[in-house]
Amino acid sequence: MKSVAIIGAGITGLTSAFYLKRAGIPVTVYEMSHRAGGVIQSIRSNGYLAEFGPNTILETSPKITQLIRDTGLESRRLDPDPKAEARYVVRDQRPIEMPGSPLGFFTTKLFTPMAKLAVMREPFIPPRRDGREESIAEFVVRRLGREFLDHAIDAVVAGVYAGDPQKLSVQQAFPKLAALEAKYGSLIKGQILGGRERRKRAEVARDRAPKFSFDEGLQVLPDTLCELLGEAVRLNTSVTRLTQTAEGWALDLVAKDGEWRAEHSAVIYAGTAFQLAELGVEISSALSSPALGANRRALDLTSFSEIRYPPVASVALGFRREDVTHPCEGFGALIPKIEGFKILGTIFSSSLFPNRAPAGHLTLTSYVGGERYPELASLPAERLVELTLQDLRALLGVRGEPTFQHCAFYPKAIPQYNVGYGRYREMMSDIEMKAPNLFFAGHYRDGISLSDSIVSGCNIAARVENQLASSHALLS
Ligand SMILES: Cc1cc2nc3c(=O)[nH]c(=O)nc-3n(C[C@H](O)[C@H](O)[C@H](O)COP(=O)(O)OP(=O)(O)OC[C@H]3O[C@@H](n4cnc5c(N)ncnc54)[C@H](O)[C@@H]3O)c2cc1C
Repeated sequence: MKSVAIIGAGITGLTSAFYLKRAGIPVTVYEMSHRAGGVIQSIRSNGYLAEFGPNTILETSPKITQLIRDTGLESRRLDPDPKAEARYVVRDQRPIEMPGSPLGFFTTKLFTPMAKLAVMREPFIPPRRDGREESIAEFVVRRLGREFLDHAIDAVVAGVYAGDPQKLSVQQAFPKLAALEAKYGSLIKGQILGGRERRKRAEVARDRAPKFSFDEGLQVLPDTLCELLGEAVRLNTSVTRLTQTAEGWALDLVAKDGEWRAEHSAVIYAGTAFQLAELGVEISSALSSPALGANRRALDLTSFSEIRYPPVASVALGFRREDVTHPCEGFGALIPKIEGFKILGTIFSSSLFPNRAPAGHLTLTSYVGGERYPELASLPAERLVELTLQDLRALLGVRGEPTFQHCAFYPKAIPQYNVGYGRYREMMSDIEMKAPNLFFAGHYRDGISLSDSIVSGCNIAARVENQLASSHALLS
């Protein structure tokens, strides 16, 4: 059997390659950059360990636990300090701990009595049944009130998507919220009643899922997968064109040492949506003789370039412990736009995991840009540090100068599942129907988080395995 080509050595591509290889199916992973891991980037420098892309994996599915077991990484897994559970949201210029219980909700200073009353009324608000797609902002205002949007959801949306709540679709970006309303008529009723069903499916709600990393940061996972895949991973190799053939797909490849063509039985595209728009894909409507070049036509993938990926910069700063007034015990602080800060939020990185800063020091990782202030993300590193410091001084009582600083810029960071995004998902399903043995997986299709990408990689490997087994059965 010819190997399955996987385009992209981010976590989706590597996970799918790993499971296909374990199933005895040969694989080749093509990655255009010089390193594996995609947006995952951990660096160690001067006693600090900094993450620039994702910081933690949420263990939302047993497939994630299984991957860690299957890759032999259990002993390198690092669970956060139990004290790091607290999450803060900024209100009136200071971080306030998010309530973790119903009692905490009634006593928190995060919301006014009016907002609390609006939340208590939520179970009595009739569900919307007209099927119209809504933004997360419209949805939240309708069910929980304006204050809840401005002082909580806006901050969460910036922290998860670096997105704009007025544009993100509740059905596409937060499908579980939309489903709670559709099924139970209320978010609060659904939270209570839905727990039993989640337990049955062995799923864990995102807000309760354990989070973890590894002793040397998240990069450990792609590095280990790469080692286990060995020569199957080809770095510095771009795929520029796919052409359907009688036996599968021919890939045009470009590397430093030249250009060539490789034949594969199937292809998994695990890159980004904006790079997909640049890929040439030629299919043949005469499947019996595609090798003859009859009825060939190029697919128009340009619409995938419309998917917005706003720029984000991450700014990791180290400080002497005594130079920071706030205890910084917890996960971090999210900042709603209404508070007027430049950063979107900050993660208390060295409180989360023990080995992230030298003794007597701490690390704070802040994010700049996103849909809120896209123009700020591309500022030079010294300006990013300056504006981040200004916010951290006001928010956390930071004094003195940083003992460590490092910035990373993602010109296209996270896809925005805005209202209308379903059209792109339909296009992908449609192409998969028209172009057998071409599959799409990853953050632009199956959810934007690292855990979604891992689950997407596992699922696509199973689909490809089934597909190849059934075509083999048909031929034999
Ligand atoms: C700044 C930032 C912070 C984040 N924080 C979190 C977090 O805290 N928690 C969380 O759960 N998630 C977080 N995420 C999201 C999460 O990291 C990603 O969704 C996930 O890592 C995506 O993995 P992927 O493999 O689907 O895509 P990617 O990591 O984007 O990998 C795609 C790969 O495909 C390659 N490629 C594309 N086209 C081609 C081609 N034609 N030929 C060869 N190679 C190609 C690219 O070079 C790239 O390496 C964050 C993302 C960013 C950017």
